[in-house]
Amino acid sequence: MINKLTAVIAIIGLLVTPQITKANDRPEHAITITKISEQVYVLKPVRGMGSNVGVVVADDGLLLIDAMNIQPGVDKFLAKTLKKISDKPVKFIINTHSHRDHTGANKYFSAKGATIISQENVKFAKFDGPNPLLYPNQWLVNKKLTMTFGGEPIVAHAAVSHTYNDLIVYLPKSNLVFMGDNMGTSWGPNNSEQSPIVLNKVLSNINQDTKIVPGHGYITTKQHLKQYTANTVKWFSVINQFNKKQLTPTQITKEPEFIQLVDFFTGNIDKAFGEDLKHTKRRVKRTIEQFPHKTYDTKDYKNYLGKHSLTDNKSIEIIARDNFLYARVDNDFIAELSPTSATKFDFVGWDNGEHISFDLNNDKTVNRVKLHKPEPKE
Ligand SMILES: [Zn+2]
Repeated sequence: MINKLTAVIAIIGLLVTPQITKANDRPEHAITITKISEQVYVLKPVRGMGSNVGVVVADDGLLLIDAMNIQPGVDKFLAKTLKKISDKPVKFIINTHSHRDHTGANKYFSAKGATIISQENVKFAKFDGPNPLLYPNQWLVNKKLTMTFGGEPIVAHAAVSHTYNDLIVYLPKSNLVFMGDNMGTSWGPNNSEQSPIVLNKVLSNINQDTKIVPGHGYITTKQHLKQYTANTVKWFSVINQFNKKQLTPTQITKEPEFIQLVDFFTGNIDKAFGEDLKHTKRRVKRTIEQFPHKTYDTKDYKNYLGKHSLTDNKSIEIIARDNFLYARVDNDFIAELSPTSATKFDFVGWDNGEHISFDLNNDKTVNRVKLHKPEPKE
């Protein structure tokens, strides 16, 4: 029943979106408000308006988890909807990640004094000019944030899965977890090796009664998240298995076992993903390109971690997280590394030939790091 209802809402959203230019012209029911407690609410917009939004009410203001889409008018429409819950100003916005469908109202509320809370990897996104993901008042979370707002403890864990800057947000008192796009009721899975690791971590942090709030879609259960996690693992293994049998991406998308998985991720309600063969084929292709990776022990690369200078006054930082290695340069890039030898590391998913190399001292500490990236052509 819930599935069918969501399907209807999703389809209406889809049909309505192109005809409406201003989101604030939309009917009031474009955002559904679910009351969890006197202090905690979840807003679910129709499709096209972006992410679900968590709302925590304190005596002196509101804290939001995600801020819907960037399209014009959505911010004001969100502000208007919040007034139905409370007149208090938005004090904080926690972004589950930097995508535009989750950060739309950041600018609007930041200009009114709200503090934006993001995972620190937003610093490493590349933009021509100033990084729009950085705000005058902002907290950057390295690994974990713990705060209390209006008596509601809030815990955010940094993760790398849907993006390099994911935050999984727990409200332990209300027993809710905000997954961002690490889970969806009509979407998934993430094409990331880290995805099952992150999902299993969440499963071990919650109990049978925890309510799961996906980035998009309806509030769901731990059981659903468990199935989602199992099917994420299955997605990779099924594709790899067919790939080994030399099936093409097109052939894979026609296999019943694969179709069943796609139906699960689309919630059996929205065939758009399943029927958009081009899109699904692209996802299969990406999975094949990325998996399986050579496994290695990041402990072997302990000496490589930390900041190293590059020739152009920039510095490159090598970090390890969840047994994966990353390189990151402020305002330029963050990428997963895949060591191909003791001194040469490829960037996962980048063009062939793009890599970094290490000059090592006799004691195996790093003397110098060289970045091998093609120069942009003028
Ligand atoms: Zn999203």
